Amino acid sequence: MTTEATEGIQALLHEKRTFPPSAEFAAQANGTAEMYDRADADREAFWAEQARKYVRWETDFDQTLDWSGAPFSKWFLGGRLNACVNAVDKHVEAGNGDRVAIHFVGEPEGDTRDITYADLHGQVQKAANALADLGVGQGDAVAIYLPMIPEAVVAMLACARLGAPHTVVFGGFSADALRSRIADAGAKVVITADGGWRRGKPGALKPAVDAALDSGEHPVEKVLVVRRTGQDVPWTDGRDQWWDDALAAAADTHEAQAFDAEHPLFILYTSGTTGKPKGVFHATGGYLVQNAYTSSVVLDIHPESDVYWCTADIGWVTGHSYIVYGPMTLGATQVMYEGTPDTPHQGRFWEIVQEAGVTVLYTAPTAIRTFMKWGTDIPAKFDLSSLRLLGSVGEPINPEAWMWYREHIGGDRTPIVDTWWQTETGAIMISPLPGVTQARPGSAMRPIPGVVAEVVDDAGQPVGNGQGGYLVITEPWPSMLRGVWGDPERYRETYWSRFEGVYFAGDGAKLDDDGNIWVLGRVDDVMNVSGHRMSTAEIESALVSHPKVAEAAVVGAADAMTGQAICAFVILREDVISEADEHGEGAELVAELRAHVAKEIGPIAKPRQIMVVAELPKTRSGKIMRRLLKDVAENREVGDVTTLADSSVMDLISAGMDKGD
Ligand code: ATP
Ligand code: MG
Repeated sequence: MTTEATEGIQALLHEKRTFPPSAEFAAQANGTAEMYDRADADREAFWAEQARKYVRWETDFDQTLDWSGAPFSKWFLGGRLNACVNAVDKHVEAGNGDRVAIHFVGEPEGDTRDITYADLHGQVQKAANALADLGVGQGDAVAIYLPMIPEAVVAMLACARLGAPHTVVFGGFSADALRSRIADAGAKVVITADGGWRRGKPGALKPAVDAALDSGEHPVEKVLVVRRTGQDVPWTDGRDQWWDDALAAAADTHEAQAFDAEHPLFILYTSGTTGKPKGVFHATGGYLVQNAYTSSVVLDIHPESDVYWCTADIGWVTGHSYIVYGPMTLGATQVMYEGTPDTPHQGRFWEIVQEAGVTVLYTAPTAIRTFMKWGTDIPAKFDLSSLRLLGSVGEPINPEAWMWYREHIGGDRTPIVDTWWQTETGAIMISPLPGVTQARPGSAMRPIPGVVAEVVDDAGQPVGNGQGGYLVITEPWPSMLRGVWGDPERYRETYWSRFEGVYFAGDGAKLDDDGNIWVLGRVDDVMNVSGHRMSTAEIESALVSHPKVAEAAVVGAADAMTGQAICAFVILREDVISEADEHGEGAELVAELRAHVAKEIGPIAKPRQIMVVAELPKTRSGKIMRRLLKDVAENREVGDVTTLADSSVMDLISAGMDKGD
């Protein structure tokens, strides 16, 4: 029994350090050890309990799960609810209207707004009425193309209130990306802004909407425009309307209707790291249940005392699940930040943590590695003692970055939850419970209570400890995608055809000697070097564990001798590199890094080529696009770069490669 993709993966990760929570943290934690047993004993009963604990149902459900139409699932059948009421009205009715829901921090310094749940209640009602006045009703899709401003949350919740599925398109995406998503979702209305602040300057958004709509047929009837920067915008009379005007003209109160638990809440396109984005859609009930539950037991949010901050953009699933629907269903107080981490200075995040007294921080490995590159003296200038829990999501976090995060941000005190999940899974699936798990740096550890995941070989058989294979989810879960919008066949084919009856996530993973799960990244990111299967993630981790390296991307390039050869691209840490490293030939440094990988993993893992670069090609959600680096390493023309955050990065890397060879 071998696994095609991961056969013979060396037991490379010899990480043995563990970090148990403090007794103090464990004592107050929402997630407890007995939940695992309870969920194992009766999974459906467990989920039914979470559903009733965290979510307000206008009509209670009478059946927890219907899996008879597998792989299409239905959860909480007969139940009726409104997601917006759960995120807003419920808290006001419970007497918590004065609680701050959003501490908004705009990019321009001093541009802050505190919005209470009562404020939000007023706004979502007006916005729902305004949308209804434009003809939006149950089942009508609405596209949202906004910067990270509170209106984005209001817009999403107003749609949810009406039962109108939203499709949020990341504000950094082009007119083309916007057009294809509007068309695929069939959106009737687009909600956008004149622009947003980016690195000290107003960036325009509205022209991209115009370009998307001017270039052919589309289903859009109306465009609502939020005034954010005050810049001039082109205007189409009859179609465009200012958000403020629409809300001012709308009635103050809106009575929310309850919708079926399976009613689609939103459509969201995946980030496109591996190919054409898929329109993943989620159902209201199950999605809300698992998000509220994980916000409580994994992110350990205590709504009455925490100040939570998730740094994701609202345009990604992390923003949907862990800015809007999860934390707000709990009634949390959170920070929402419009800008980038380096505006106006590289300590901005830490300044915000200090000023707002952030207690729970949820961010991505790409950000953590950037902070490592900038140096430890930057966070050291700020008081981060309010932090009590740190989270990571989006990519595998290298043990070195995990340790850095804990030490320099978490004061060697906070638990870290490395949370594995996807747009498709809707909510966290594999993660430590921060008050229970003895976490190991770099491992997402175990499926959370209620979720059943395995690592299997080619034949779909579970692998043993110390072995690698494919990550699969073997039982349905409440927040699972209900399909690919308009393409049920693609849903079956993409997720359910590789292995009989189980969900194939597309990620490779390994079990360590204790049975903990290490997600290695996508199965396509596994290399074959002289017959040895090696994962890019493991070699990257070895490189990042060298004190001079902040970030690394590894690809396997076709090689006549070895099948594939390892090519590494590295970014150096600004606080430790010398002049020679930066400007010299770099030969010494390259030799040093190759020797380091040989020592950490073995001589077979030594990269054939190491190139020092200033930036790596990343998607706008911060994920490294290895396929482009592979094009460079194989001297091919670089492929589709439309989802890259900064396409000039590839020109630089390609130019450097020509010089180096
Ligand atoms: P596409 O599916 O279009 O290629 P994508 O997979 O990058 O895009 P997302 O749904 O945003 O889009 O990302 C989910 C993926 O991110 C996971 O499949 C996994 O590869 C990676 N990932 C997320 N969290 C973790 C984590 N904690 N550890 C390891 N990998 C993670
Ligand atoms: Mg994916």
